[in-house]
Amino acid sequence: MRVLLVEDDQMLGSAVVQALQDVSYAVDWVSDGVQASGALEQHDFELILLDLGLPNRDGLEVLRRLRASGDATPVLIITARDTVDDRIEGLDIGADDYLGKPFAVGELLARLRALGRRQGGAATSVLTNGLMSLELASKLARVDGVEYALSNREFALLQALMMRPGAVLSRTQLEQKIYGWGEEVESNAVAVIIHGLRRKLGADRIRNVRGLGWMVERNDARAGEERSR
Ligand code: CA
Repeated sequence: MRVLLVEDDQMLGSAVVQALQDVSYAVDWVSDGVQASGALEQHDFELILLDLGLPNRDGLEVLRRLRASGDATPVLIITARDTVDDRIEGLDIGADDYLGKPFAVGELLARLRALGRRQGGAATSVLTNGLMSLELASKLARVDGVEYALSNREFALLQALMMRPGAVLSRTQLEQKIYGWGEEVESNAVAVIIHGLRRKLGADRIRNVRGLGWMVERNDARAGEERSR
C-alpha cells in the first residue's frame, strides 16, 4: 500500500518513514505543501499522512485543493496544532481522521490500517477470498486453515491483489504499491515475489495473465462449494 507522508519535521518524518516501511508500506515523503500538492497531482496514493504547519502551503490548503480536485484518497492529519477548532476545520474540509502530536507509533499504524480497510471496502481487518485469507495486523496468510508467515514485500503484494479480486494488476501497478520513491527496484522483483508467494500458498492462488500481469480470482465461499460438488 502506497502512502504519501507530508511532514516538515525531519526527525519525525524519518521516524515515521522507518516505522511504515517496517510494516511493509511503500512510503513517499515530501516536506512542504507545494511539493505535496505536486506529488498528489502526479501520483496515485492509497493513504495520505498530512501535517498542517508546513512551509510554502499550509496542510489545510493542501487538503482543500485535493478534495476540490475530486480526489477522495483517505487523509490522516497528524499535527501539533491541537485545538478543537483546527480539528473541526480539518474534518470539515475532508480529512478522514486526526492524530495529535506527539503520538505513539502503534496508534498511528492502527489508524492507518483502519483507513486502509475503509478504502478497500472491507469492514474487518481480514481480507478473505475463498479458502485464502490475509490478516492485516499480523500479516499472516491462511490457506485452507494453514498459516503462512509472509515477508513485508510478499504481504504488500498479496494485499494489493486481494483488495481487488478479479482485477489484473500489471508489474508497474504492483511496483507502485510496494516500493516508495528512490527505492531501487530490480526489473524482475515483482516476478520473484510472486514466485515466492505461489511456492508458499500454492501456484493456483495467484494467476498470471500473460502479457498483462497478475490477479487473485474472485472466489466467494459459495463459488468454492459449487466447484467442490
Ligand atoms: Ca510542521
